Amino acid sequence: MNIIITPLGTVAPYSKDNKNCSGYLIEYDGFKYLFDCGNGVTRLMNFPNDLINLRIFLSHLHPDHYGDLSALAQTALVYKRLGYINDKIEIYAPDKDKRDESIYFPPTNPYNHDDWGEYKTITKPSIDFEYLKNFEQDYPIIINGYQNLDYINNDLKIKSLQVPHQISAYAFRIDTNVGSIVYSGDTGFCKKIIAFAQNCDIFICESTFLKGQIRLENTHLYAHEAAMIAKEANVKQLILTHFWPELDKNLYLKEAKEIFENTEVAEEGKKLILRR
Ligand SMILES: [Zn+2]
Ligand SMILES: [Zn+2]
Repeated sequence: MNIIITPLGTVAPYSKDNKNCSGYLIEYDGFKYLFDCGNGVTRLMNFPNDLINLRIFLSHLHPDHYGDLSALAQTALVYKRLGYINDKIEIYAPDKDKRDESIYFPPTNPYNHDDWGEYKTITKPSIDFEYLKNFEQDYPIIINGYQNLDYINNDLKIKSLQVPHQISAYAFRIDTNVGSIVYSGDTGFCKKIIAFAQNCDIFICESTFLKGQIRLENTHLYAHEAAMIAKEANVKQLILTHFWPELDKNLYLKEAKEIFENTEVAEEGKKLILRR
């Protein structure tokens, strides 16, 4: 038995030429697991076959990670009508948006001068999740909300880890009898992802920035930071992803390789195979 990983999309936040936004298809034990479904991802999928036994896991609800889900839902509907698929496609997406916002609550009694009102941090429901949830009405899909994913299918297990990003965002760890894969999704630099990725076989990690580029907040990684995480986590191989569409991927590769030698850049359609 082996695990086949096909990068379907490696750039953000828009697709260009033959490069698509985020998406990784993992095939194992007769099932297909799609991690993120960014714009352009369906271009590299094989329909109707890839709709059969398919599960989709969205790391977060930024459009470059779920933009092609509507195309996929419609495709599923058409192939269901034609009799190619029977089952609904299971999709897992974060349902709460921890987009914390400070809201000013005015004093209850404006004549009480001890009370100036106060700022409170609130957690908003995810508008994007509700948008996707509506798809269930018309398309053969089921949208499951998660905040702490613990998915099991035979010997395959998927766990999530919340990571720093503008909205609720998660990394995934996929463990099987054949090997383990960690996919970072979009993340800022944090120690907990080092523990999460510990000793995995393949670490697919975002590297949005290059040294010298200005990062306003810790919501994405530099290529060398991805390499630092890979080294500290003692992973076997680092696959960089989430590149700026206009830039040469070799720039990211060079920066990461200075820290972690066994690094490659993800290329659309270039499969990675794990065997045991
Ligand atoms: Zn994002
Ligand atoms: Zn992104």
